[in-house]
Amino acid sequence: DLSARIEDVVGSGQSRLTEEQLDDLEAVLIQADLGVKTTMEIIDQIREETRGERFITSFQVRRLLRTELLKILAEDQSAAGPSSVEGPAVVFVVGVNGVGKTTTIGKLARLYSSQGKSVLLCASDTFRAAAVEQLEIWAERTDSDFVKQSAGADPAAVLYDAIAASRARNRDVVIVDTAGRLHTKRNLMEELDKMKRVAAREVDGAPHEVYLIVDATTGQNGLIQAREFMRSSGVTGVIVTKLDGTAKGGIVAAIRKDLEIPIRFVGVGEKLEDLIEFSPEAFVDGLLFEEGAQSSDRRVQAES
Ligand code: GDP
Repeated sequence: DLSARIEDVVGSGQSRLTEEQLDDLEAVLIQADLGVKTTMEIIDQIREETRGERFITSFQVRRLLRTELLKILAEDQSAAGPSSVEGPAVVFVVGVNGVGKTTTIGKLARLYSSQGKSVLLCASDTFRAAAVEQLEIWAERTDSDFVKQSAGADPAAVLYDAIAASRARNRDVVIVDTAGRLHTKRNLMEELDKMKRVAAREVDGAPHEVYLIVDATTGQNGLIQAREFMRSSGVTGVIVTKLDGTAKGGIVAAIRKDLEIPIRFVGVGEKLEDLIEFSPEAFVDGLLFEEGAQSSDRRVQAES
């Protein structure tokens, strides 16, 4: 865990940090998936800040690290969610296949319904029959309405149907699953843009959220793939999944810095309740001071 590794490098407070210790610290941060650029900036900052210190403890290093990480993560972290919309709120969920998109849609459905909102799931990933089936299961589990068409249907047409259905049934939120194939990148982004135009035409200000899903376990590589989706503009928030499956929580800061979009939620397991509303402070403290607390304590509380 990160705090223990920092302890190993810094020791328990002797003299000021040596260049060798700073090098070791740099390696620790890169290993934690913070990314080279962020790591360099943080190391430079720590070097500056500790220049005059006679004694420096690992606790002090972690305090400094906390400050630097919060600078990255807390920037522009204004309130999330489509709560103030004259219904239906339209939420797009985008990202490459396998990152946990379908699961996250189920978790979001549960979250919204625990807030008293009625939810409709829209199966616009029409290329994967399995994705449609999977989404239908999540709809059943979360008591959400579900709209699909036959395999290969136009995703924008499914969306149009879903919005009409949500109007007719007076639903509050439409969560839209989208295709995540990468081999026809250009078409995929065009398709997303088309869906956005349809949403905007049908509902004022829609889509109200476009959540980009990023898998924490794919590290810097996942970041490169996620960047593709930024070409289809309008991503409003990032959801980082599978944080329970990695000790490299630093990826969250790397994602925030690289994509320049606020992190909204993190996924910490395969179950419906394993979605945490992202709090920069809680996250950084969990990473640096109380490793392990993320996964067990701070789940989104939903009425069961
Ligand atoms: P999709 O292809 O992007 O729709 O991905 P799925 O939703 O089907 O998820 C792919 C796999 O990741 C499944 O086995 C999920 O159970 C798993 N998964 C999704 N989110 C999380 C998470 O936060 N933690 C863990 N451990 N597994 C997750």
